[in-house]
Amino acid sequence: MNGRIKVHYLYHSGYAVQLDNRLLVFDYYLDKPEGEVRSLNTGVIEPEEIKDFDTLVFSSHRHQDHFNPVILSWRENIPRIKYILSWDIPRKYHPGNTVMKPGMRAFPDEGVNVFALKSTDEGVAFLVEVNGVVIYHAGDLNWWHWDGEPKAWNNDMAARFKREIEQLKGVKIDIAFLTTDPRQESNALLGAEYFIEHVGAKIIFPMHFLDDYSIMRTIEEKKAIHPGFGAFQPVTRRGACFEF
Ligand SMILES: [Zn+2]
Repeated sequence: MNGRIKVHYLYHSGYAVQLDNRLLVFDYYLDKPEGEVRSLNTGVIEPEEIKDFDTLVFSSHRHQDHFNPVILSWRENIPRIKYILSWDIPRKYHPGNTVMKPGMRAFPDEGVNVFALKSTDEGVAFLVEVNGVVIYHAGDLNWWHWDGEPKAWNNDMAARFKREIEQLKGVKIDIAFLTTDPRQESNALLGAEYFIEHVGAKIIFPMHFLDDYSIMRTIEEKKAIHPGFGAFQPVTRRGACFEF
């Protein structure tokens, strides 16, 4: 990847990936910056700041912590912007955009190839190949094991999660954004562990943790006993930027 890539942590499941002259934005929702200034470094998209990029904006599903209609207003300031939306996002936002159902493949721009997987919650996960770099954003596709749910519910979840991840086997992923939700307590890394053992990625970022950074310590502890977790990049603040 050789210094071509910058990853900005925005908030929750929101990340921006800068690659050559492209900017990919995933699951943007919190439009209020950390502090006064609006910029990638404070965790928000300010259209003026990114107007010269070939911009691709992805929304994995309609939940308010993954989708904010404000993203569609960016096209007023960014001439080369395209949207890739999950099919469950309200229809009024569909016209002119790429809308994806699970199992679909799309080519929204030159050199960009997107495959949609079925989430175990709502909407889709995205596998994106762009300028030769492969990026996976899980959305809410996760092994949502909850101790309070009946055994049958958890078994069904596990089967559905594994069936989707199966489709990624053999894919060489450069950067993966994986759901690691601290509310799942001792099961918070269940999905990530399965992904690491069956698919893997050179670099992995955690997501879906709101303001609860305790998940970073959980990941660090896991690294000591499971070397596969070494691919995880700890995130310590909104707007943090990582270069590869
Ligand atoms: Zn979610």
